[in-house]
Amino acid sequence: MTALQREIERRGRRIFELVDKHPEPLFSKAGFYQRLMALSMRDERFKAQLFRFVDVLPSLRRSSEIVEHLDEYFSDDGFGPLVGVGVRLARIVPWVSGRILRWNVSGMARQFIAGRNPDDVMATLRKRHAQKIGFTVDLLGEGVVSEAQADEYAARYLDLLEKLARETKGWSDPLGKNSELFPVVNLSVKISALYSQISPADPADAIAHLAPKLRPLLRRARELGAFINFDMESYAHKNITLELFKTIFTEEEFKDWPHAGIVIQAYLRDSEADLRGLVEWGRARGTRFALRLVKGAYWDYETTKSRQNGWDCPVYFQKPESDANFEALTRVLFENESIVTAAFGSHNVRSIAHTQALADELGIDRSRFEFQLLYGMAGPIKRALVEMGYRVREYCPVGELLPGMAYLVRRLLENTSNEGFLRAKFAENLSAEELLREPRELVKPDGASPPDSASVVRKQAQPRTKMARTKCRAHCAKCASALAKSIHSSSAAKKSGRMS
Ligand SMILES: Cc1cc2nc3c(=O)[nH]c(=O)nc-3n(C[C@H](O)[C@H](O)[C@H](O)COP(=O)(O)OP(=O)(O)OC[C@H]3O[C@@H](n4cnc5c(N)ncnc54)[C@H](O)[C@@H]3O)c2cc1C
Repeated sequence: MTALQREIERRGRRIFELVDKHPEPLFSKAGFYQRLMALSMRDERFKAQLFRFVDVLPSLRRSSEIVEHLDEYFSDDGFGPLVGVGVRLARIVPWVSGRILRWNVSGMARQFIAGRNPDDVMATLRKRHAQKIGFTVDLLGEGVVSEAQADEYAARYLDLLEKLARETKGWSDPLGKNSELFPVVNLSVKISALYSQISPADPADAIAHLAPKLRPLLRRARELGAFINFDMESYAHKNITLELFKTIFTEEEFKDWPHAGIVIQAYLRDSEADLRGLVEWGRARGTRFALRLVKGAYWDYETTKSRQNGWDCPVYFQKPESDANFEALTRVLFENESIVTAAFGSHNVRSIAHTQALADELGIDRSRFEFQLLYGMAGPIKRALVEMGYRVREYCPVGELLPGMAYLVRRLLENTSNEGFLRAKFAENLSAEELLREPRELVKPDGASPPDSASVVRKQAQPRTKMARTKCRAHCAKCASALAKSIHSSSAAKKSGRMS
């Protein structure tokens, strides 16, 4: 065993010890959500129906409609007694059941949404500040469909920025060291919210429309001492996002501003080339920039879409390949620490422990990078990292239930994925030894085609069964539109495909 692997295991076990010190359910809200998650992990069919139901729910107005859809999606006896009783009860008291269901599903969405509006979110951010956890705030919503909507988003981002700056005056950095690298106010933006006609075939047009929307926000952020991150969306948007970032931050006005960041997705085969390209650009520019490394949230979508179109698939097919690449890119980031400030967006203790151990090996002080985790997930891991003296930032989406639904479905997908770390640790109780294994050892030499999880998504995107279609004649328009969005949409099958 190498010294690095030994250190990763030591760190990983320490994180698990700290996590076990404050036992907490997998997700911050127990009850209804826990039960649905448990069922979804056991039964792929149930999971597919659940996602469709959650997707169509916001468009159902009357309780009777909710109950009819519930009946249609879940009346199969094979789903177990809990679901069976729920469906029967809903038939008997539709009004009450419809309201309870909507309330429960809204509760599920709220688990991952830090606030409905900027006022709301401040309560969460204050709580986290007291726990020494920082924030990056994002506005929920799907790809805009008109320029009026895009302008509205741009204005909302600006308002949010002003509010965050006002309300956090006097907040200090939790580590008090190298704090100039990590402004307190941190906003994450998605380009698909700012232009409705983004076409991968015409990056120049996209940049020409996006840059004027972004400049006022960046200017104000700079005046307020805030930080702006460009989130990364589906592969179709990747090159535009990279190009836009480099173009704007080479302009005279922003050339010497270090508080801008971008994302690299380690599940992409070309991620190392993109990262090295950014580093080279950063060195030529001569000012630090920040980079959030994630594995990527569009795996299902990218595999399905490329298969449907007969394209080369841009993502790795084996989960350990993404894990191993995340580690390789962590090294590239640390080796270029003099120009890039790194943030690591992961809930995977192996990936986190590797980051910690490698930083020590390369002599990078822990105050010079940060860990980022999503709101509503992995609370005990966040606490453990704070206790170990690391900088932790929480990604906090803000918005209403309706635009939040797609975000919810994406989180459900991630949390119930067969291959996800959180499921392996908290639902399947794999041993620390298994969870901390070197990912390169787990890559199978013959794993060249997409595994079955892509077919789960395909199944979800299929038309409903004949029986269900017949039963739901009255609501086909709603179901059809939900179906068109479905999981596939939740992983950004929409043109813009926004996600974090
Ligand atoms: C703070 C924060 C910000 C984020 N911002 C973004 C963003 O801007 N853009 C974005 O796309 N995502 C973003 N994400 C989402 C992120 O990509 C997922 O949360 C993350 O991939 C889950 O990885 P993990 O290390 O926590 O979990 P793990 O369980 O270790 O990894 C799960 C990931 O592995 C990959 N994977 C799953 N199955 C396979 C397979 N068969 N073959 C290859 N790879 C596979 C997928 O990327 C999947 O998401 C963000 C996450 C966080 C925490």
